[in-house]
Amino acid sequence: VQAVAAIERALGVTVDYVKQRHVFGKPLLDLQNTRFKLAEAKTQAHVARVFLDSCIERLMRGELDTVTASMAKWWTTDLQCQCRRVSPAARRLRLHARVPDRPDVRRRQVQRIYGGANEIMKEIIARSL
Ligand SMILES: Cc1cc2nc3c(=O)[nH]c(=O)nc-3n(C[C@H](O)[C@H](O)[C@H](O)COP(=O)(O)OP(=O)(O)OC[C@H]3O[C@@H](n4cnc5c(N)ncnc54)[C@H](O)[C@@H]3O)c2cc1C
Repeated sequence: VQAVAAIERALGVTVDYVKQRHVFGKPLLDLQNTRFKLAEAKTQAHVARVFLDSCIERLMRGELDTVTASMAKWWTTDLQCQCRRVSPAARRLRLHARVPDRPDVRRRQVQRIYGGANEIMKEIIARSL
C-alpha cells in the first residue's frame, strides 16, 4: 500500500510539474516524448493499483496466498524505486523539502528489503512454478 501510494504521488507531482514548466514557449506536457513517458507511468501506476486492490480484497476474504502476496511486494516496491529514480519532479520535491539525498536513497532501498527482501519474494514465487 505504501509503495502504490508513493507511485501515485510521484506521478501526481510529475504531472503538476510538466504542466507548469515551460520549454520552447510551451508546457513540457505538450512535448510528445513527455506525454508518452507519462502515459507509460500512468499505465504502470494503474496496473499496480488494480493488482493491489485485488490483493486487499483477497486478504479480506482470507484468500490471499503467499505467492501472490510476494508478487505484490516485490513488483510494487521495485516500481516505486524506479519512479523515484527517474522522476525529476520527485527529485525536486525532495530538494524543496530539504531532504538530503543520501537518507532518501537509503529509504528507497529499504522498501526492497524490509517486509522480506525482494529476492526472497522471487524465490517464493519461483517455487510455485
Ligand atoms: C528499517 C527496517 C525496519 C524493519 N522493521 C521490521 C519490523 O517491524 N518487524 C520485523 O519483523 N522485521 C523488520 N525488519 C527486518 C526486515 O524484515 C528484514 O531486514 C528483511 O526481511 C531482510 O532480512 P535480513 O535483514 O535478514 O536480510 P538477509 O536475508 O540477510 O538479506 C540480505 C541481502 O541478501 C539477499 N538475499 C538473501 N537471501 C538470498 C537468496 N537466497 N538469494 C538471493 N539473494 C538473497 C537479500 O535480497 C538482501 O539483499 C526491518 C528492517 C529494516 C531495515
